[in-house]
Amino acid sequence: MKYISTRGQAPALDFEDVLLTGLAPDGGLYVPEKLPSFSLTEIRSWRDLPYDELAYRVLKPFVAGFIEDDEFRTMLHDTYAAFGHKAVAPVRQLDHNEYVLELFHGPTLAFKDFALQLLGRLLDHALEKRGEKAVIMGATSGDTGSAAIEGCRRCANIDIFILHPHQRVSEVQRRQMTTVLSDNIHNIAVEGNFDDCQRMVKESFRDQSFLRGERRLVAVNSINWARIMAQIVYYFYCALNLGGPERRMAFSVPTGNFGDIFAGYLALKMGLPISQLIVATNRNDVLHRILSQNQYEARPLSHTLSPSMDIVVSSNFERLLFDLYDRDGESIAQLMDNMNQGAVTLDEARMAEARKVFDSCSVDDETTCNTIRTVFEESGYLLDPHTAIGVHAARQVRRHPDQPMITLGTAHPVKFAEAVEKAGMTYPQLPHHLQDLMTREERCTVLPDDRIKVQSFMADQIFGPG
Ligand SMILES: *Cc1c(COP(=O)(O)O)cnc(C)c1O
Repeated sequence: MKYISTRGQAPALDFEDVLLTGLAPDGGLYVPEKLPSFSLTEIRSWRDLPYDELAYRVLKPFVAGFIEDDEFRTMLHDTYAAFGHKAVAPVRQLDHNEYVLELFHGPTLAFKDFALQLLGRLLDHALEKRGEKAVIMGATSGDTGSAAIEGCRRCANIDIFILHPHQRVSEVQRRQMTTVLSDNIHNIAVEGNFDDCQRMVKESFRDQSFLRGERRLVAVNSINWARIMAQIVYYFYCALNLGGPERRMAFSVPTGNFGDIFAGYLALKMGLPISQLIVATNRNDVLHRILSQNQYEARPLSHTLSPSMDIVVSSNFERLLFDLYDRDGESIAQLMDNMNQGAVTLDEARMAEARKVFDSCSVDDETTCNTIRTVFEESGYLLDPHTAIGVHAARQVRRHPDQPMITLGTAHPVKFAEAVEKAGMTYPQLPHHLQDLMTREERCTVLPDDRIKVQSFMADQIFGPG
């Protein structure tokens, strides 16, 4: 399968190169040139498959030519066998026709494990094939960093450097990163904020000379195609478990960068009967403004009780726009250019097309806490603040009460104690495999907000001092 850029000015690549590349050289994002699609008969025949086998069927077309079938199958088996629940992505019922798809049974208790556990293995396979080694560098305000570290801790060909703002991530989140003691894992606490960390990462990607031409930097943020791809599977898994593809159903997705929900859109395009996709955002509502008012404009960041959705622009939305604009890269390049200069109004007819399946809702902190409390009273089930936003949005803008409505449960509530306590709930217990997290040994280096110092620290770790 070939992959093309949303801005139309970069050469098409195969899966292996897309995996190692990140952004396209024209600034666009890679998408499949032609999406695979499955018939209802084929989808129906997968009804009894366990998660890893289903993943194999759904993902095989995307990696054709990159990896042998048997090897891919084993890789998927190992990836999902490490999850803390036998069903991998179990479904919980909240009410009649209302469900939560629990995506937090991976090692770091958030849905990002579904993609990053697989990404680490795919990257290692690609590097092994090429006889190369790579460096992952990323900035995190919490979830992505720990999931990337867990995903790569056993990768022989990868050194990973994760920058987090010193003393500005929660203790659980910090410990999930710093207690991973493998030699290839390097945590850097930067004396600055998240934006400072992100800026250093961006600058390092632009000028990689500190790696002496011997290593390449690989991005593991959600622009990486392989992450989106891995997330398609659980839409199929959930639908098949609730009577699909015979029954149509709706999904509500707590959204920041539009990665997770874009995977749902792809599942729909690939043949899964989905009747509605709800974009659930917190106060950082750029996506809600686009979908409801056709206004595409960045606004200053608000800090909320759902920090993993605190974003200014949603980079993956460009992938949807590419389809809405009939895959015309030139139009997208123009739009993104205008967007950088200020607000953009999108073509009304194209947005109407998007609204056939997408709805949106923006939820503030107070409503988030109320939802956590209400759902607990209704069913004794404790939501994390991100999932609570999804549940509230689902209840607000649902179109078909006669169909199942599934909210993606993106994180375990134990990761977001502040919101849980503000909602008046008791702080939940750490799951079994993390019981000793608060007493494990930590390893982390505190560095000033200075790109040269950070890069020379990295070079020392990779090549040895001197
Ligand atoms: C990353 C994250 C999100 C947002 O996912 P996107 O793919 O960026 O839309 C939502 N909830 C949690 C808990 C997350 O970690």
